[in-house]
Formats: sequence, structure tokens, C-alpha cells
Amino acid sequence: MPNAILRKRAIETLIGTTLAVLLTLAVVAGAFKLSSSLHEDRLSDLRLQGTLELVELREKIEADVHTTLSSLRQIGTALQIDPDMSQAEYSDLAFSIAGKNSAIINLAAATDFRLSLVYPYEENSSILGFDLRDYPDQLAGVTQAVEAGDMIVAGPLDLVQGGVGSIARYPVFVPGDEGDDRLWGIASLVFDHSGLIAAAIGNSIGSDYRLLVTSDGLRDADRRTLFGDIDVRSAADPIELDFDFSGGDWTFLAVPENGWPSNAISHPHNIAIAVLAALAIVAIWLIQIIMRSRNRAEVQLLRAVEAIDGGFAMFDAGGRLLSFNAAYARMYDRCRDAIRRGARFEDILRTGLANGQYPDAVGREEEWLKDRLELHAHPRGEFDQRLSNGRWVRISERRSEDGVLVSIRVDVTELKEAQAAAEEANRAKTDFLSVLSHELRTPLSVITGFVRLVGMEGAMPESRRLASALAETPDVPLPVRSAIEARESSIAQTMRTVLRSAEHLLFLVEEMLDFGQVEAGKLTVRPSNCDVAALIAAATDQCGEKARRKGILLETENADAWVVADPKRTHQILLNLIGNAIKFTEAGSVRISVEAGDEAVEIAVSDSGPGIAVSELGKIFEPFYQVDSSSVRRAGGTGLGLAIARNLAELQGGSLTVSSTEGIGSRFALLLPRSHDEPMRLAGE
Ligand code: ADP
Repeated sequence: MPNAILRKRAIETLIGTTLAVLLTLAVVAGAFKLSSSLHEDRLSDLRLQGTLELVELREKIEADVHTTLSSLRQIGTALQIDPDMSQAEYSDLAFSIAGKNSAIINLAAATDFRLSLVYPYEENSSILGFDLRDYPDQLAGVTQAVEAGDMIVAGPLDLVQGGVGSIARYPVFVPGDEGDDRLWGIASLVFDHSGLIAAAIGNSIGSDYRLLVTSDGLRDADRRTLFGDIDVRSAADPIELDFDFSGGDWTFLAVPENGWPSNAISHPHNIAIAVLAALAIVAIWLIQIIMRSRNRAEVQLLRAVEAIDGGFAMFDAGGRLLSFNAAYARMYDRCRDAIRRGARFEDILRTGLANGQYPDAVGREEEWLKDRLELHAHPRGEFDQRLSNGRWVRISERRSEDGVLVSIRVDVTELKEAQAAAEEANRAKTDFLSVLSHELRTPLSVITGFVRLVGMEGAMPESRRLASALAETPDVPLPVRSAIEARESSIAQTMRTVLRSAEHLLFLVEEMLDFGQVEAGKLTVRPSNCDVAALIAAATDQCGEKARRKGILLETENADAWVVADPKRTHQILLNLIGNAIKFTEAGSVRISVEAGDEAVEIAVSDSGPGIAVSELGKIFEPFYQVDSSSVRRAGGTGLGLAIARNLAELQGGSLTVSSTEGIGSRFALLLPRSHDEPMRLAGE
């Protein structure tokens, strides 16, 4: 699983980087596209605005051209009506029609291809009589107009009278003899197109634009400049408009004085686009970096989890598996297939139960499942789990603040085996101690009995017989009699010493036997109503001799109380406590006090001995524990007394506690249940 996730994360990182690169390219391309489309819009706005202005200008020029050309039509019409018009009449007519139009250079009429009428007469009289057929250029224009049957404008032309102008020709037809139209001749108008256009432009947009007006021939080569700058034709994207007047074919080209604006990077549009694009790219890479570092952190975590020796698993608040390491899956060999991300904990357990993963659940699967789910929902620290393959797993579960359950599982099989072996060894030791103590107690009891007998004067029949034989034989010499008596006394003395040692040995053996029973849980008590004063008196009587020998004051304070306790076992406890107090106290006193509460009676044994360090207080109730074994060696003991005493106190529903100050002394408090039917005490008792 972790490998699959690591691969997935690596692929995600690669995809993320690729996506970021592609998005960056897309943003850059988009920025360029947006910039050029905004530029296009700007250009077309400019063109539209320019076109509107130029259309207005064109209409003005068209109107002026039209006015000029209509002069020719009027002359033509007048000639149709009066073909035999004299020069004088013609001059008057032409003046009245065109006298105020400064663009008109001349108005002429030719009948039968010879110039017959001219206006203004003075400037043009020299060309009267010219035969147009002698001028092929002129003739072509004339023929064109005649063939068209309508006015044709041509130009620019080098004029016969000098200069450049445009010429409009109008065929004049008169009624023929047979009622049809007969060509009378041609009326022509030469005008200064350049002046006309310049006057029309005046102060309008001329200064903002470079203009070019051309007259269009049928072929491109025939296109000729009427006005303006010829270079406009080769300029980029000129605005192009056609003139619309009959007989002429003009084109109007215009470009702004400094050409169309380029898409400069410094344009506000482009600056805004560049800033937005830069922000978008920064955001893309920021997201990419965040995703990468998140992935890296997750990968690091996964690797760390994988490196853990034990099993690791994480479940969400709903009990679904969020993450786990390979060691976890390996531990649960019979439900490994169910262990995958997103799987429910209950389903994993059920698969395990179905495959016999948990030996402790066999035969009580549903109950086991309920308990395990409850523990999973409310984890209570550590517990051990046995698996079908004989392994033991120590499970430690905790819930985090957001409800995620973290579970760590350590294989403790070796530990468990060692623990079982230790328990087995302990049991064997206890059994051995019990058997040994038991075997020792019988001969020891016999020894003590006999020693006590031998030590008592006159208790042995042989001693009695020897004493009566001596009494009956007065002539036994005195030295012999003294020697016999000395021997008897020495035997009694020796036997007392042997008896003390034998009794001590018996006490130790008894202690070991009791401890064996404590370990085996076989120690029993028989509680009854007991007089505390009597119990204390019995114990102090037994220990009094020892206290006296050490010069220690043994005193009992008010012992007026009754308890429900086993008298023999309570006596044993008190003997241990008082015995220890005397044993460890070198000088001073041992005090026994009693305090009766409602439910319990406290019997406290306080001494002025060496005291016990705080760090040792908890340990002295452990079997075989002795605070300072060297000093204890001097004092003697097994280290079992307090362990047995506490166990006996608890078996009787009481307790045994200690408080102590080093150098001041110790206080052992035995708490026993108070008896509520105390017998009446007689006065003086
Ligand atoms: P033992 O007396 O046989 O060593 P116990 O179980 O009775 O074993 O006591 C355990 C240890 O507790 C003693 O070895 C001693 O170190 C300490 N101890 C018990 N009673 C006293 C006391 N009254 N004052 C100081 N130390 C004590």
C-alpha cells in the first residue's frame, strides 16, 4: 500500500508540474491573444472613426465634382438645343454656367472632331480649329465617350494649353433627318482636379491623414494620381473609399499621418494584461509549490511510518482506515486482504474472525467483536492480543482531538514468552519453598519439642531417676554430686539456647510457608469478634523479653476496641509489626495506640527507630524486599513479614499502611473492620 501511495504521489507531482507548465503557456498565449484582440478593436475603432470622417470629405469632393461636371451637361444640353450657337453666345452661356467655378479651366465644343467653340475665349482661342483626330490620346477619350453615349471623365492629362487637369467629355446628339439621333460633336470640360480636391479638403482632416486620390483605369497601370501622396498606396492598411459620380472612377486612400498605431507593450491595456498574467502565473506556481510540499510532507510521513518497527494504523472518527504501514498488514496474515485504505475497522475484524485470526474469539465471536469495537470507540491505553499464528501483539490506541484513532502495535511474543517462563519459574520456586518449608517444619517441631523437654529440669524420666538415685545414695562423694548437678544445669542452659534458635528457625519456616500460600492464593482467614486489647497484650507479652533486653520501652495506649478479625492471623500481623519495631530500633520506645472509628479500628505501631526513606516506602511490602540488606542482615529476617501481613490485613477486609520520617521513626497502621456487637466489658476488666 505505501508503495502504491508513493507512486501515486510521484505521478501527481509530475502531473502537477506538467499542468503548471501548460497553464503557464496557456496564460501567456491567452495574454498575447487578448492583447492583440484589444489592439485589433482599437484599430478598428480608429478606422471606423477615420472612415466616417473621410466619407464626409468624399461626399464634399463628390458634390464639388458633381457641380463642376453638371456645367458640362448644361453646355451639352444647350448645344443639343442650339447646335449652331455662335462663339459669342457660347461664351455668354459658359460664363453664366461656369464663370464662378475656379476649378474649371476651359469649356470647349468640337463638331466633326474640330474644336469650334471655346471658353474662356482669350486663353483658348489659339486652339480653335484643332482637329482632335491629330491627337490620338484625345481621340481615344472622345471615342470612348461617344461609344458610351454619356459623359466620361479622364485624367490626369497633360493639357494642350499646358499644365495638368482632368477632362470630361460629353457626346452631343442632335435629331437627325430621319428622326433618329445624330452625333453633332463633343463638349468637353477641363478642370483642375487637384485644386478642386484641395479646396474641398480645406482645413478638415487633411492634417491628420496622408491622402491619395487616384483616377482608376481598367488596368492597375492606368491608375493615376489626382491628388496627394503616391506612397499612401504602399502604406499598411489604408482606408479605401470609392467616389461615386457618373463618368468618373476615382478612389480615395488615406492613412494616419504616422501610420496605424502599433501594439506597444507600454499601452495601458498591455500593462494590465501583463500584470494579470504575471499574477495568474505566480498563483499557478504557488499552488504547484504548495501541492508539492504537501506531497513531500506526506511522503516523508509515510516513509517515517514505514520505518517504524511495529505496526501503525490510523482510523478516522467513523472507523475507516486512513493510513497504515506494511508491518501492520503483515501482522494480520489472515485478514490482510481486508486491510486497505477506506476499509471499515469492523469489516477488517469480521474478516479476521471468519478466518480464525483471533484465537481468543473462537466460540464467542459476536461478544468478542462487540468488546473490541467498544475498546476501539473508547480506547483505554494498552492491551495484548493473541493471534492465530501464535504471536502476541501489544496494541496501544489513542484518539487525537479531531477523533482520529492512532494505533501502534508491537510484537511482544518474545516478551510474553519470557514473562510466562518467569511466572513458571516463580511458581516452581514457590512450590519448592512450600515443599521445603513443609518438610523442614515437621522435624523442626520435633526438635523444638524435645529440646524444650530436655531443657526443662526434671522433665526427662532419666533426669528424674538420676535425681532420686542421688537422693537415695547419701555416700556419693560431694565432687561427683557437684559434677553431676553442673552437667544437668549445663545441659538445661544449652537446651535453652538451642530452643531459641530452633524457634527462630521454625518462625522463618512458618513465614515461608505462609508466603507460599499467599502466592498460591490459598491463605484463608476465619474472622470473629476480637478484643483488640487482648490481641495487643498477647503480642507484647511475646515480644516484651526482646524489648527489655534491648532496653526499649514498649507501651500500649488505650486499646479499648473490638474488631472482626481472625485472632491468630491478627496476632501474627501484630507480632510482625511490633517485632520489626523492636528489631530496627536501637534506643527509645515502641508505642502501640488504638483509635476506633465508626467502621474501622486503627492499631498503630510507632517506633523511634531509623525510619524509612520515602522512595522505599512502597517497596517494603514487596516479598523479599529489605531496605538495607546489610543492616537487616544484622537484624535478621527474610523480607517476607510485611508482604504477608498486608495480605492478611486485606484478606480480613482491612489494610496495612506506613508513614515514616528518616531519623525520627516509623508508624505502621493496621486498619481492621470494627465489630458492632462488642460484648459488654465488666467493670475492672
Ligand atoms: P524482615 O523484617 O524480615 O526483613 P519485613 O517484610 O518485615 O521483612 O520488612 C521488610 C523491610 O522493611 C525490613 O527489612 C526493613 O528494611 C523495613 N522495615 C520494616 N519495619 C521497619 C521499622 N519499624 N523500621 C525501619 N525499617 C523497617
